[in-house]
Amino acid sequence: MFYKSTRNSNENVTASKAIVQGISNDGGLYVPSEFPQITFADLKMLSGKSYVEKAVFVLQKFLDDFTVEEIQSCAQKAYAKGKFSSPEIAPLHKIDEHTFALELWHGPTCAFKDMALQILPHLLTTSAKKQGDNKDILILVATSGDTGKAALEGFKDVAGTKVLVFYPQDGVSALQKAQMVTQEGDNEYVCAIAGNFDDAQTGVKNIFADETMKAQLNAANTKFSSANSINWGRLVPQIVYYIASYCKLIADKEIELGEEINVVVPTGNFGNILAAYYSKKMGLPIHKFICASNANKVLTDFIQTGTYNRNRDFYLTSSPSMDILISSNLERLLYLLSDCDDTLINEWFTSLKETGEYTINDTVKQKLQSDFYGGYCDDQQTKKMIGELFQNHQYVCDTHTAVAFHVYKEYVEKSNDHTKTIIASTASPYKFPNSVLEGLGEPLGDNEFDNSKILEKLTKLPIPNGLKNLDNKKIRFTESVPISDMKKIVLEMIK
Ligand SMILES: *Cc1c(COP(=O)(O)O)cnc(C)c1O
Repeated sequence: MFYKSTRNSNENVTASKAIVQGISNDGGLYVPSEFPQITFADLKMLSGKSYVEKAVFVLQKFLDDFTVEEIQSCAQKAYAKGKFSSPEIAPLHKIDEHTFALELWHGPTCAFKDMALQILPHLLTTSAKKQGDNKDILILVATSGDTGKAALEGFKDVAGTKVLVFYPQDGVSALQKAQMVTQEGDNEYVCAIAGNFDDAQTGVKNIFADETMKAQLNAANTKFSSANSINWGRLVPQIVYYIASYCKLIADKEIELGEEINVVVPTGNFGNILAAYYSKKMGLPIHKFICASNANKVLTDFIQTGTYNRNRDFYLTSSPSMDILISSNLERLLYLLSDCDDTLINEWFTSLKETGEYTINDTVKQKLQSDFYGGYCDDQQTKKMIGELFQNHQYVCDTHTAVAFHVYKEYVEKSNDHTKTIIASTASPYKFPNSVLEGLGEPLGDNEFDNSKILEKLTKLPIPNGLKNLDNKKIRFTESVPISDMKKIVLEMIK
């Protein structure tokens, strides 16, 4: 198999090339030329295996220019004992007879980004070696909170890599900031900028495109790369946990082998839910994909109408990792649903860039609606859901996960579909202690650190190690610069 671009089906690169390059030169995203199949017998066999073994099984099917030993080494380093707070890596929590929360936040930074960013550095360095490239890799990240920390933790002390994170000085929570500025690792640097997230993102994009910067990097035997979810190396590890959770349902005798399940995902950039869809393309029996959005409901509208329109107000919500109006990975889904029609994809995404909208044709729309249901949930409903889940099921969840639970509840009421369902739980409740406490109807303390302690007392769920004592950890990074100084910071990094 090989990888082609969503904007040029004739492009033909290996998995390692796709991972090193990140995005195709034509602006398209890399997609596999075919979907390797997984049989019911495979699923049965895998249900007795460890997470690492399952990961190796799935990854070797896609990364076919890696040796099995290389993949094993990557998976073992990523999901080694002690890195995740659950030996199952991504445990399932049974809510009721039909519903299971797939907890993707047991990694070091307590958000689901760890599932992929723990293994990406190893996939990336292995790929670079295969490409005969001995340059150091400098990962530039602009973050609104979760991705920056997960990238720092994943690349910490990984030989041949450096990470530089820019965050908006007033745009992240106290807890997220504490997580980043106390980061350990000799190959990393964190810098605030005097601007918002968009400024950080634009600054990074400009640096990527700057030819003199590239030349200076080249002279220092270094090249840029990125760690966001358009990279195939971040998407492919996410397929693993959907297959693993299906196997777990079999092992626990919750479903029969071959029985269909539904999957609900709180969605932003469409990476996580696309990975679930890819698992269905491999043969995993999934009936419906329920795409949950917050007040930024561009995807809900798209699934319902077939028109994607980003010309709308942007809201800051209590589920900030889903505050997004351009869901990049949707392009990969539409490429598949249009039977790999790169002309159509070019048309639609050029229109998105130029006018902020596009409308898909009826054939693609019908396919979209037969697999996907879209719904949304505002901040008030999010808090109410957090309270309800705790009251009725003694389960405490974060704001993003609550959005998913709310949309699922609505879906069941509308459809009366009682298929067993997995709901992706994407962050620890301790990442957003203020909103969670409000949801539980509790008065707030003075700051997020105090609120975490109040939440722990109330729920008896222990504060994860990654978020413990952050207020006492040594602060390593205090620099804050004007946007115009971002390049200077990059150059200091490669000295
Ligand atoms: C990134 C993130 C999401 C959105 O995931 P996508 O793959 O971008 O759709 C949802 N919840 C949390 C907590 C996240 O960090």
